[in-house]
Amino acid sequence: MCGIVGYVGPGCASEFLIEGLHRLEYRGYDSAGIAVQNGSEIGVRKRVGRVSELERLLESNPVTGSFGIGHTRWATHGETSDVNSHPHIGGNGEVVIVHNGVIENYAKLRGQLQTLGYVFRTTTDSEIIAHMICHQWYELVKLGHDPELAETCQTAVERALVTFKGTYGIVAMFREAPGVLIAARVGSPLVIGVGRNEYFLASDASPLVGHTDEVVYLSDNEIAVITTESMELHHRDTGRLEPSIQTLQQESSDTDLGDFDHYMLKEIFEQPEAIENCLRGRIDDDSATAMFGGLNLDPMQLRKIDRIVLTACGTSWHAGLVGEYLLEEFARIPTEVEYASELRYRNPPMTESTMVFAITQSGETADTLAALRECKRKGHQTLAICNVVGSTIAREADGGIYLHAGPEIGVASTKAFTSQVTALILLSLYFGRMRHLSYHAGKRMIRQLRDMPDVIRRTLQCHDAVKEVADRYCNYENFLYLGRLYNFPVALEGALKLKEISYIHAEGYPAAEMKHGPIALVDENTPSVFIVPRGGIYPKVMSNLEEIKARRGPVIAIACEGDDQISELADEVIFVPEVEDFLQPLVTSIPLQILSYHIALQRGCNVDRPRNLAKSVTVE
Ligand code: GLU
Repeated sequence: MCGIVGYVGPGCASEFLIEGLHRLEYRGYDSAGIAVQNGSEIGVRKRVGRVSELERLLESNPVTGSFGIGHTRWATHGETSDVNSHPHIGGNGEVVIVHNGVIENYAKLRGQLQTLGYVFRTTTDSEIIAHMICHQWYELVKLGHDPELAETCQTAVERALVTFKGTYGIVAMFREAPGVLIAARVGSPLVIGVGRNEYFLASDASPLVGHTDEVVYLSDNEIAVITTESMELHHRDTGRLEPSIQTLQQESSDTDLGDFDHYMLKEIFEQPEAIENCLRGRIDDDSATAMFGGLNLDPMQLRKIDRIVLTACGTSWHAGLVGEYLLEEFARIPTEVEYASELRYRNPPMTESTMVFAITQSGETADTLAALRECKRKGHQTLAICNVVGSTIAREADGGIYLHAGPEIGVASTKAFTSQVTALILLSLYFGRMRHLSYHAGKRMIRQLRDMPDVIRRTLQCHDAVKEVADRYCNYENFLYLGRLYNFPVALEGALKLKEISYIHAEGYPAAEMKHGPIALVDENTPSVFIVPRGGIYPKVMSNLEEIKARRGPVIAIACEGDDQISELADEVIFVPEVEDFLQPLVTSIPLQILSYHIALQRGCNVDRPRNLAKSVTVE
């Protein structure tokens, strides 16, 4: 969460910082601020609200200079207000910092610093970072260190860091050392862009696109010392490191809105290409199986896996549930899906040959990263299914599968979900073909998978029909989403989409579970969205649908083209192409994404920036 940017070079810092904050705004948008060095002063401007609010402030009160830092906040400690916005000032303005993460022992450190005479202006945890670095810097200067040297600034940051418990991505600048930025991380991502005589810093690579394609990803416990002349990397324990410069592959058009009004709609319509990209180069026709370049395990090791744990949060957790059904059905490997935030503190028995998959769009989700590390610590093989190349989880897992879905900017995940499901289908085919799945069954799966981009193109034609349904149902305050088997996780995901962006209460349930309690909620004011495509248990789901109708509950059905029976029962029907059961989530999730999008629009909600949320959840 939160976006960080930084700039050192000959250019106009505020231009890069503001452009970068716009690109990072999806990570948090409670407030925004920048600090720019101008001669012997650091000018700080910050404001609650969007980056556009900050821009307005800068029009009336500009800052000029060629070194600076910036931040968009997703508040964890302290209300969202101008004063609590980052950057934060330490001492009497000698140090200015931005921070992503949470300092867990901030209350104790705050007390200690107050005793030493430091005056706190905010109610955030982050302000202690500014004062603590400043305090260490004063101490060094008292001992005779040169206040203007980058080395002094670096040592001050290093000494401050050992006092912090929690997670952080920090960038600090020093009034007496113009042109020096010190960046450090534990748990929160930071990437450095290496330009010609200039350096860029950001929490993910998107602000760097168009400025440089040479990047260095900071790892935990590393500190970068950036000056106008150079960039040095140091590790807390091992000292100076040689930076590993990587090539950035993102293009700026990937993050443009094009003809769409919102990123969410653009990303919904990008799903056919996203799935094509996920499948590309991963099908081995001769052996009727899937192939992956990055699992980093030989067939012997893979053959030994006797249990799989899929760990994830939010939408990725729903993709994981689909994965559980797939892996158990096709590969016959017992599979568990665990909330990463629970797994990291739970202690479930795991066999020696349990393989752990972390599923995450951003590759930075703090809970998923912590769960992955915990499993690694116990000696398990870990793999990542993630979208962002070079992200922390992608780097720390033993191997993995990239989605190649392109940047997902909309806070409500859409194309990442269907791409994750596609990756899990490929994975179950792969593991299945190592075990019980026949050549012919593999061939059949491949044929059907290959058709999916076109099937999804056809599914997207339901857009106008879904919009009409959204217009009619946008004023209801409670919804139920019901499905069975592969469509149960889809029901959960549909309900989550509606909650996230339209703030309507929605519950996802296995359709047959209704009669064990939740059916008490059904009345004429509670629509049920029934996912009832033709397939294995169609008649059973139809019976569940009848139970809702018998209680006067309005029904919106997602059904297969040509299903005449459903039109007689449901109040609304949205038709989608018919596919085999295991492929249904790729199809049935799409009208639910479109439904939540249009309901949210009708209610005047900000679809791409829903309240209280942020895209990449880098705090615990
Ligand atoms: N904990 C800090 C705050 O609440 C930083 C949050 C963030 O990562 O945006 O200001």
